Amino acid sequence: RAPAYVRAISPYIPGKPISELAREMGLNEADIVKLASNENPLGMSPKAKAAMLAAADDIARYPDGNGFALKSALAKKFGVGIDTLVLGNGSNDVLELIARAFLDESGSGVFAQHAFAVYPLAIQSVGARLIEVPARNFGHDLAAMGDAVAADTRIVFVANPNNPTGTFLPGELIESFLKQVPKDVIVVLDEAYNEYLAPEQRYDAVAWLAQHPNLVITRTFSKIYGLAGLRIGYAIASPEVADLMNRMRAPFNANSLALAAAEAALADEEFLQRSFEVNRDGLVQIIAGLDKLGLQHIPSAGNFLTFKVGDGAGVNQRLLKQGVIVRPIGGYGMPEWLRVSIGTQAENARFLEALAKALG
Ligand code: PMP
Repeated sequence: RAPAYVRAISPYIPGKPISELAREMGLNEADIVKLASNENPLGMSPKAKAAMLAAADDIARYPDGNGFALKSALAKKFGVGIDTLVLGNGSNDVLELIARAFLDESGSGVFAQHAFAVYPLAIQSVGARLIEVPARNFGHDLAAMGDAVAADTRIVFVANPNNPTGTFLPGELIESFLKQVPKDVIVVLDEAYNEYLAPEQRYDAVAWLAQHPNLVITRTFSKIYGLAGLRIGYAIASPEVADLMNRMRAPFNANSLALAAAEAALADEEFLQRSFEVNRDGLVQIIAGLDKLGLQHIPSAGNFLTFKVGDGAGVNQRLLKQGVIVRPIGGYGMPEWLRVSIGTQAENARFLEALAKALG
């Protein structure tokens, strides 16, 4: 019989695959526009694809269990030692490693209302107590989160930018938050969408590690690097924290195709820049379209935008009928809102056209 805390978990519900939706809606797969999971609409870097295909030749062999080549490339990029890095099967895996390394049934984890759904799941998966802090303007209220840290709190989760709201916290605010939080509490700074930040929003969290060894920065190759299907993400932490996380890791949790593709993707700066520009321009395009429809939206620092339609489930259903998939976020306590990922110019136009019809 599973422990009560396991039975109390409500599962993470991923979006359906395009093929299944096409069948349900009686549409051709090619006519479907999927803007539901904050993926890169350009796909993966051609250099990453070549590296992945080359790695397939060796697929009968186990991957490098230490991910030495990818870690070396990351260490160089961030100016850190290899012993500060932890690789995961997506950054999701890394978030779970943190929970398993630092939390148990006697502890609690703090996270914000409307924050990424995996934080409460990770906290609950080890039987720890949830402390949810009300959002402010749909974003994290860091002052309230600091106040919510209890004697038994071991982890605080901060997403910057946050999913699904796209809200952004300036670096100075996060740094002062780190100064407030007791040093025996791990502060997870989830930067899954960091590479989409505008130049004036950028900050260097790695520089805070020396003063704040309780900081864990998480990043992913699923978003701007376009490798969501390969499942590869990482954490940067102090060597002590990284060592504890690595002890919790399943052997070979980062597969060889992912390791090869991620290393090549990291080096393909041209693809990164193009992806950034497509997102920046697409965000402008979608905002203009939503403004024209008179819809409220939350300023987003990521590759998606959350907007208010009133009946989120109804509008979502009418979008689906037209072959446009977005993400309803009722599960995040925002049933009147929908989240759309930024696509190519043509995909964004299709979405806006369908939305106008869906609103009637
Ligand atoms: N953090 C945030 C804020 C996210 O939105 C996501 C993806 N939805 C993740 C982490 C996890 O992504 P992955 O496991 O693909 O790295």
